[in-house]
Amino acid sequence: MTHSENTCQFRGEVCRNHREERNGHRAVTLWFTGLSGAGKSTIAHAVEKRLFDMGLNVYTFDGDNVRHGLCGDLGFSPEDRSENIRRIGEMTKLFMDAGVICLCAFITPRHAIQERLRAMHAPGDFHLVFVDCPVEICEERDVKGLYKLAREGKIKNYTGVSAPYEAPEAPELRLDTASETEEQCTERVLAFLRERLDPASAR
Ligand code: ADP
Repeated sequence: MTHSENTCQFRGEVCRNHREERNGHRAVTLWFTGLSGAGKSTIAHAVEKRLFDMGLNVYTFDGDNVRHGLCGDLGFSPEDRSENIRRIGEMTKLFMDAGVICLCAFITPRHAIQERLRAMHAPGDFHLVFVDCPVEICEERDVKGLYKLAREGKIKNYTGVSAPYEAPEAPELRLDTASETEEQCTERVLAFLRERLDPASAR
């Protein structure tokens, strides 16, 4: 649905295919979902560094960074969370059009939104990576000190404490950060990506 009436999309002469050809790789979106502290950002940024060093065109969208800017007007109610993810989903589509590999690290706690994201993208463009880790371990890590505040009731709607997290039913990849090291997880993501970035493989 759009409220922008009397607009029509302009298609330039430079298409995604041309950009992908010049880059020598496909554009795809890897969407990392999981509890806060599960390791989404750590792994996404490690993968980004490896791909960047290989000369690939890659960008990481990170929950906190986006919430300071593009989505700074949104809070953490179910409606705002949904709108937050919708905006990022639309943004990754634009970035893919620009030939970029998008690594997205967002909790994305609801099945409905995980599936909505999938439905927004063309087949083969979107891959869900479940960064799995028990809440007890995430809470022990408490990277940002927010679990403590949530337990004290100082933060409302905190996923895993006072708001639900629904593990994806059919992720393309599942990482278990409680038993696998950062390096192992990073290697598994890179292996998963290898053939999906190959411009010669069928979409
Ligand atoms: P998220 O982005 O999911 O909120 P972060 O990446 O910010 O999580 O934090 C995850 C924390 O867990 C980091 O301190 C990281 O060093 C640690 N960690 C321990 N094992 C792993 C692993 N296998 N993969 C990723 N992070 C891990």
